[in-house]
Amino acid sequence: MLDFLIAFEGGSLNTISEDVAKSPAYAGKRLYEGAICGVAAADDAVIVSLKANKEANLDMTQPEEWLPGAKSVLSFFLPFARWIPEENAGGDWPSDGWLHGRIEGQAFSSQAIAALAGKIREAGYGAVVPSLDPRLKVFMKYAGYPESLFTVNWSERHIAFAAGLGTFGLSRGIITEKGMAGRFMSIVTTLPLVPTPRPYSDLLEYCVKCGACIRNCPPQAITVERLKDHKLCDEYLVAVRKKEEPYYGCGKCQSGVPCASRIPGRG
Ligand code: SF4
Ligand code: SF4
Repeated sequence: MLDFLIAFEGGSLNTISEDVAKSPAYAGKRLYEGAICGVAAADDAVIVSLKANKEANLDMTQPEEWLPGAKSVLSFFLPFARWIPEENAGGDWPSDGWLHGRIEGQAFSSQAIAALAGKIREAGYGAVVPSLDPRLKVFMKYAGYPESLFTVNWSERHIAFAAGLGTFGLSRGIITEKGMAGRFMSIVTTLPLVPTPRPYSDLLEYCVKCGACIRNCPPQAITVERLKDHKLCDEYLVAVRKKEEPYYGCGKCQSGVPCASRIPGRG
């Protein structure tokens, strides 16, 4: 599966094309370097617990609801090529390279995952990509919960945690063996697969609480005590969108930090 993702369309979509490059120097630059994958059972206790979960501010549509007969959830992490978080380190606004990763990178990962789901269906199994499904919802929830304006009915980061890919950091990103800077996608499938063991027990186990993401965040949305203030983050992203339309993104909490491309303190 990972070979298919990386080789999708001959890898041509995994580069910034000349016609969209923000400057000629970006044309032909690679977006992702490799991919990793984990598996969670469709009825995994972590996933089940995220239904109407006020503490997590989530109301996750369950795998069986996305796809009757679902047996497994595949979670993929596509790490950005190192130059992207390196270029984005420092400063108050996202670098052009990060914006390319966020937009053209997301376009590549969406197309590649949709194609992989098609391959699973060709093999005779059901497969749904929740983040590309019209039933994906972003909606107001739990009025009065101050940290968040909205929630979603599928969280790629929580699915990655459930599928053994990594743990949360203070910035609320997921720290994987390939770091945090990149994109997560998932497939719900009727394919019966062996779940990936979770080599951690704590939500924040891979985070060394170094505070680099706190210092890097332009609107100061991250604190040790309250983790991430989604409202401040969202307002900043709106400001970026106004400045960079049609691009948006930030990633300062994933760039120039020890968890950008690895698990801190583990080689
Ligand atoms: S930058 Fe440091 S504190 Fe922030 S998520 Fe990464 S390891 Fe944790
Ligand atoms: S994405 Fe940007 S604004 Fe949001 S928490 Fe990370 S650094 Fe802060």
